[in-house]
Amino acid sequence: MRENFLIFGSPTIGESEIAEVVASLRSGWVGTGPKVGRFETMLTEYVGAPHARCVSSCTAALILALQVLGLGAGDEVLVPAMTFVASANAVEHAGATPVLVDSEPGTGLLDLEAAEAAITERTRAIMPVHLAGRPIDMDRLAALAQRHDLRIVEDAAHAIGAEWRGRRIGAFGNVTAFSFYVTKNISTIEGGALLTASAELAEEVERLALHGLSVGAWQRFSDAGYKHYEVVRPGYKYNMTDVQAALGLHQLPQLDAWIERRAELWARYDDLLADLPVATPPPAEPDTRHARHLYQILVGTEAPLDRDALLAGLHERRIGTGVHYRGVHLHPYYRDRYGLAPEDFPVATSISDRTLSLPLDPKVTAADQDDVVAALRELLV
Ligand SMILES: *Cc1c(COP(=O)(O)O)cnc(C)c1O
Repeated sequence: MRENFLIFGSPTIGESEIAEVVASLRSGWVGTGPKVGRFETMLTEYVGAPHARCVSSCTAALILALQVLGLGAGDEVLVPAMTFVASANAVEHAGATPVLVDSEPGTGLLDLEAAEAAITERTRAIMPVHLAGRPIDMDRLAALAQRHDLRIVEDAAHAIGAEWRGRRIGAFGNVTAFSFYVTKNISTIEGGALLTASAELAEEVERLALHGLSVGAWQRFSDAGYKHYEVVRPGYKYNMTDVQAALGLHQLPQLDAWIERRAELWARYDDLLADLPVATPPPAEPDTRHARHLYQILVGTEAPLDRDALLAGLHERRIGTGVHYRGVHLHPYYRDRYGLAPEDFPVATSISDRTLSLPLDPKVTAADQDDVVAALRELLV
């Protein structure tokens, strides 16, 4: 038995992050300021997108993205059933209607054929999720959006660093939202960013993220001199602080090495789990880079335990796991409001019942991984 509990998705925070946070605290500038600006520049350079705006969460970025694209009451947005509820919640908060779409078997990604079949005359946008860090087919996505004149808002909470045919996710000219929540590939504890090719959308997002003010706090109180603000549209309080950006400035430069490390752990899980009654994730598509955010197994129907019993057994053996996800259609709000049944989304429902995510963060050691596999073997064989 392990001595310490193996925490699922624990962030890797080093001395450089700690020093930068302390420097922010000592500087007196702890709110939105120059470090947020530097982190935004660093994000545009890393992703290869012209504009970035940091906000308080990926959820906030998704809500703002829908709003600045003019989506609201009466508009339908296609959202995968197999995602974190924040994707669908953002559509609700923007006042539009999420229309759920089933998954492709195997990858669990949004099924683009099912998406096309769900389009009505009210469909205005599609919100693909690069589930687990695996990029969705960006060529087929763009063709679908073009055929039906849809806006694309990418929920890339799992996918910073992912690439499709040599281009990073976030660089395709769509509005793309990243998450820097604690469990994600890089973290600012809480935080998110919106990347876009449009300077106009980026400016509108910046305004809406800070009350709708015409100039930000940074410009108002910095040594550049006081300026009056005007409100042109009621905004939100979704800004990122310099204390959060301080973390991001030292996390992003490590992302590529961390994805490499995650890929090593991934390959090792593939080998070690090969003879167990679980399905391991399908390989990455050729000419893509998988961001390796989640290593999800599917518990086989022939296994002696179901997913929840397996999860409990692992927890007893001091191993933390995650469930990504129970489908949006299974949550009471969506189920009841839209009259959805599990069999409406058979693939997403099957994944919901059988998926389990194993520890994969860059601090996980081979010995930790051996403990995970030994516990799985004890429970499943
Ligand atoms: C984590 C996550 C979000 C929300 O991110 P926050 O930064 O916590 O708001 C949205 N979508 C998906 C798919 C996620 O995993």
